[in-house]
Amino acid sequence: MKNKKLQINFKKKNVLISGASRGIGKDISNLFENLGANVIKLDSSQYDFRQESELSKLKNFIAKYDKIDILVNNAGINYSELNLEFSLQKLNNLMNVNLKTPMFITSEVSKKMKKNKFGRIINISSIAATRVREGRTAYSASKFALEGFTKTLSIELAKYNILVNSVAPGFIDTDMTRKMLTKKEIKKLSDQVPLKKLGSTKDIANAVIFLASDMNNFINGHSLVVDGGFLSAVNV
Ligand code: NDP
Repeated sequence: MKNKKLQINFKKKNVLISGASRGIGKDISNLFENLGANVIKLDSSQYDFRQESELSKLKNFIAKYDKIDILVNNAGINYSELNLEFSLQKLNNLMNVNLKTPMFITSEVSKKMKKNKFGRIINISSIAATRVREGRTAYSASKFALEGFTKTLSIELAKYNILVNSVAPGFIDTDMTRKMLTKKEIKKLSDQVPLKKLGSTKDIANAVIFLASDMNNFINGHSLVVDGGFLSAVNV
């Protein structure tokens, strides 16, 4: 058998990534670029996903591209608040960023994918769509919904050769984690991960690249958990 080197490349592929300015999205974007893709980046300095008034501007922006092969819905926000202290404004902002704007972008982009009979859509979900923490009702609700969206969309678009999956990160070393958790909590949680550490942005980027690459032609409607074993562990 020939010892052929495994090669993934995204030459001639247009990849749209939201939240590409920092954290997980930045690494996903860098990795796609290193593998030859033309990456189209979105972040809050261009379009504020909290504002529904931005949707028509986003629609015009997406309309400029004839072809988008891969879409990564990565932008996300989080806050801590008990439902007893419910704030509609905060909930609206979070749902717009984590769910509604990604659903809108996906609708616009998947029209192009349908026309081109090819597409890969990857939504960045979370282990918060499986295991929950006090104070994270809004965040968990948004990520559970994103998983439902992913699964439903995967059956709507399969006939157009568009595969739809999610990647569900565990605790990853980013601004979001440092904002949401104290150093003590981070230490405690990383001790509960069987691999005894936080994940890196690269760990998530690698999973996204795999799902978006030619190596994946049959994984569809799946949630790929990347958490160092955290969800599998009862109490390590
Ligand atoms: P960061 O806070 O590091 O980065 C968030 C990204 O989202 C930034 O690029 C930011 O853009 C963008 N963004 C935030 N608000 C808006 C907005 N209003 N409009 C447009 N873009 C916006 O987060 P992470 O990299 O940690 O998270 C990325 C994704 O991974 C999120 O969906 C998150 O829920 C998910 N995730 C993260 C985990 C973790 O442990 N870190 C665990 C599980 C899931 P800007 O720089 O312009 O603000």
